[in-house]
Amino acid sequence: MEYAYFDGRFIPITDAVISVKNKTFNYGLGALEGIRGYWNQEDQNLYLFRLEDHFQRLLNSCKVLFITIPYTVKELCEITVELMKKNNVKRDIYIRPIAFINLPSLRPNLYKTEYGLTIFIEEVGYVEKPTVNAMISSWLRIDNSTIPPTVKSIAGYLNSALAYSQAVAQGQDEAIFVTREGNISEASTNNIFIVKQGDIITPPLSDSILEGITRNTIMQIAKQVNGHNVKVRSIPKSEIYFAEEVFMTGTAVEVLPVSAIDKRQIGNGNSGPITSMLQKKYLQIVRGEDKKYESFLTAVYP
Ligand code: PMP
Repeated sequence: MEYAYFDGRFIPITDAVISVKNKTFNYGLGALEGIRGYWNQEDQNLYLFRLEDHFQRLLNSCKVLFITIPYTVKELCEITVELMKKNNVKRDIYIRPIAFINLPSLRPNLYKTEYGLTIFIEEVGYVEKPTVNAMISSWLRIDNSTIPPTVKSIAGYLNSALAYSQAVAQGQDEAIFVTREGNISEASTNNIFIVKQGDIITPPLSDSILEGITRNTIMQIAKQVNGHNVKVRSIPKSEIYFAEEVFMTGTAVEVLPVSAIDKRQIGNGNSGPITSMLQKKYLQIVRGEDKKYESFLTAVYP
């Protein structure tokens, strides 16, 4: 039987349901996370990647949204490890925590209401292709004066969904947002990096991005892979078309090379050398094959 954590208890996933009256369902009020677990066959262990960082981001999101769930990062990590054990997980998985609200009133109030927390398991199976074709979306990225993009809010995903759905409708694999100023922000659910004359460049927080944990991991390993620090600076929209390499990063897609944007081929249309090196290193780290980065991993089994 598969279990979910739901409001303080481990219960069968089929019983983890919310009412149609729930205002997270009605209005999209809440915060979420997305975490990966990687099964290491040799070690016979499940490694949860940067678990504490994901839960710290969840608590930060909750703080901005006025949601006060009564858990510390440590408790959230312990609950998640317990959930993995209860489900005897021995494969790659995706973990979805959601902080939601149980608001009786019709008013969209987040302040001092009743909150709930659930954590459940999703299957991975997200990336269909080794490289993707992307388009610049006609939808602009949400910004800090509307829906804060640095917060992983449920409602913020409407912006992602509009852009991603537009891309799918136009036969593309991914959508890239620009800001109101015309700078590259991020993809629908991934951060963006470009490579230019050997420099690895990624947009700053002020260009309306989610501060991705994969983005941060890549920034930490880039120096080791190509000997340079990642440059954090705005990327004007036109610059991305003539980048030597473009790749996306995210918990689900890991490191995903981009082969074309708006029908302009990037590099030779395949994964570039720096992207491939970073991807290789990232995949070793998350699976626990590079013990230098062990501190990123939470081992589920003793
Ligand atoms: N941007 C958005 C909008 C996202 O939804 C995600 C996925 N969480 C990311 C970037 C990548 O973040 P992370 O590397 O932490 O998964």
